[in-house]
Amino acid sequence: MKTEQPYLLTPGPINTTLSVKQAMLQDWGSWDGDFRAMTARLCQQLVALIDGEDSHVCVPMQGSGTFAVEATLATLVPKDGKLLILMNGAYGQRMGKIMNYLGRDYVALDKGDYEPPRGEEVEAILAADPAITHVALVHCETSSGILNPVEEIAEAVARQGRRLIIDSMSAFGAVAISAKTVQFDALISSANKCFEGVPGFGFSLVRQSALDASKGNAHSLSLDLLDQWQYLAKTGQWRYTPPTHVVAAFLQALKEHAAEGGIVGRHARYQRNQQRLVAGMRRMGFETLLSDVWLSPIIITFFSPGHSNFDFQAFYDRMKARGFIIYPGKLTEADSFRLGCIGQLHDVQIDAVLTAVAAVLDELQIPNGAPIHALNAAATA
Ligand SMILES: *Cc1c(COP(=O)(O)O)cnc(C)c1O
Repeated sequence: MKTEQPYLLTPGPINTTLSVKQAMLQDWGSWDGDFRAMTARLCQQLVALIDGEDSHVCVPMQGSGTFAVEATLATLVPKDGKLLILMNGAYGQRMGKIMNYLGRDYVALDKGDYEPPRGEEVEAILAADPAITHVALVHCETSSGILNPVEEIAEAVARQGRRLIIDSMSAFGAVAISAKTVQFDALISSANKCFEGVPGFGFSLVRQSALDASKGNAHSLSLDLLDQWQYLAKTGQWRYTPPTHVVAAFLQALKEHAAEGGIVGRHARYQRNQQRLVAGMRRMGFETLLSDVWLSPIIITFFSPGHSNFDFQAFYDRMKARGFIIYPGKLTEADSFRLGCIGQLHDVQIDAVLTAVAAVLDELQIPNGAPIHALNAAATA
């Protein structure tokens, strides 16, 4: 199946519907009542998706997701606070970099490439270090695709009386989370992942009381979430130019998200994509990095085939020629690549991906996708 536009098997930006793209054909005045109503609707709908009407507010932030992460850390972690970052991949590490720029204190529980942080060890670290005020967790660590155990960690953080900040960039919209059952001060996401909007803004769903208490924390004017929120509450407008077309597209994307059955419906489709993809790849001898319990319905890491003919760039180019953009791996120890399950992907596309992978292996004269450790084990057996 060759299409005019490639399918993006990536964790975002992803393929959007035609109707989402068409929603961008109108121009909006950022100060105008119509656009202010659009922003209000967007915020209200996002807060409702976490059952946060009584506790949390939505603060949108121009830029990519990282801008919203940086704004949230800078606004919520006080200058004399201390953050525990639960790292198991690139996005946890990025939060460490942000803290370095901010010049604020942090420690990391670094689990390496793909081990999940567990509630018990988090609780032990918090019990031993009363200076830690906040904990940051990546919900789905997109570098490996692992779905981290957010409930268990939230419970540990709450038991120790600290505050949790969740980077749910690649999970929110497709993985359910309720502020009524999981305690967190902020959940951060963006327009262009599981909500299937186009890139241009992120947002933080912040506990109102935590935001109210954050005055003076932010290091940066443009990334001050409190200031953004206060201006929004007062005027209905974003401070500084909002990505108007992106907001219009996002509202259409939210409509389509609801029509698909909301978070539950979207999760079901992504989960089905993931299972179909993993089963098909395993039939060709490929192995996933993670065991099934830790696989997310967002993105999957596969070990690269161990055959000497395999070369990622050649594989990538030939997949692209067939209409599929795949994603390189991000592991430090093993060669790997990733396939995303999110965006406008359905059974027909997943089956076409599998057909393309089989054809490309054939062209490269690689008999199957078995990784190097499987080939070595077979050779010594
Ligand atoms: C995509 C992503 C981000 C933000 O990335 P941007 O490129 O800045 O949009 C942050 N955290 C996670 C877990 C992500 O998947």
